[in-house]
Amino acid sequence: LEEIGKIIPEYIRSFLFENKLLPSTYIIIRIDGCHFHRFSDIHEFEKPNDSRALNLMNACAVAVLNEFQDVVFAYGVSDEYSFVLKKTSQFNQRHSSQIVSAIVSLFSSVYVMKWNKFFPQKTLKYPPSFDGRAVCYPSTEILQDYLAWRQVDCHINNQYNTCFWMLVKSGKTKAEAQKCLKGTQTREKYELLSQHFCIDYNSLPVMFRHGSSVYRVKKSTSAIPENDNNGELQEVIVDHCNIIEQSFWKAHSSILG
Ligand code: ATP
Ligand code: ATP
Ligand code: MG
Ligand code: MG
Ligand code: MG
Repeated sequence: LEEIGKIIPEYIRSFLFENKLLPSTYIIIRIDGCHFHRFSDIHEFEKPNDSRALNLMNACAVAVLNEFQDVVFAYGVSDEYSFVLKKTSQFNQRHSSQIVSAIVSLFSSVYVMKWNKFFPQKTLKYPPSFDGRAVCYPSTEILQDYLAWRQVDCHINNQYNTCFWMLVKSGKTKAEAQKCLKGTQTREKYELLSQHFCIDYNSLPVMFRHGSSVYRVKKSTSAIPENDNNGELQEVIVDHCNIIEQSFWKAHSSILG
């Protein structure tokens, strides 16, 4: 047995496939709920946007930032969240599968633990799961373009879904609503909402229109510190800002360092 114990480990380890992420790049981990179309149906999410579900997702993202110091920013919409790790991160020696699995498993278990806080009247009927992937972005500009892409997607989907569900709630079938919206431009959707449903799109909750951004800010002096980074008191906050505009990144230049 001792002989085998000496030979086998090296041989077995030789099969190990290491996928280390490119050094000195931002790492994005994007997670997405598996089959949340079904999950949201079964748990009767309000359509098109269930605030409780979004706030639960945000609470999970806050837990991720509180647990992993190298995660400097997160952006979430619907059943997805993107986590940004700083360029110099050595978290799990930049092993892709270890980083993805650490984040996705913490997120999923917090989702289950906090379910009751956000859905006190609803039993969780089956365990939700999330998938995750890692991508490296070599520059701040490209990273910001990535985040802008997610926020544009949030806007386009939200506008479509708001129209779709207004049509359905007003008596159209899903197929009719879909047909009605086919090929329509942004302006036509604004008009549909304002003329037929008296809804000013821009007055809808900002969380629905802009998604959620999670990041650290300097903590105001009076409260108790949660993190102590370089002697500076910080706290993780959830915001619904416009991250497409450069002004956000200028005003929060410390996030991407
Ligand atoms: P996949 O497993 O491929 O990701 P999916 O069913 O999760 O499939 P997505 O494209 O990720 O599909 O879309 C998520 C769906 O979950 C949305 O289309 C929406 O129906 C639902 N959903 C997620 N979050 C909410 C929410 N806060 N309020 C209402 N519905 C939601
Ligand atoms: P890492 O995050 O690097 O995996 P770790 O603390 O999980 O760190 P492991 O090498 O994975 O370290 O070891 C798991 C440890 O968990 C064991 O050393 C043991 O102390 C404890 N442990 C796990 N399962 C059991 C169990 N069934 N009974 C008692 N202790 C256990
Ligand atoms: Mg998916
Ligand atoms: Mg999904
Ligand atoms: Mg999704």
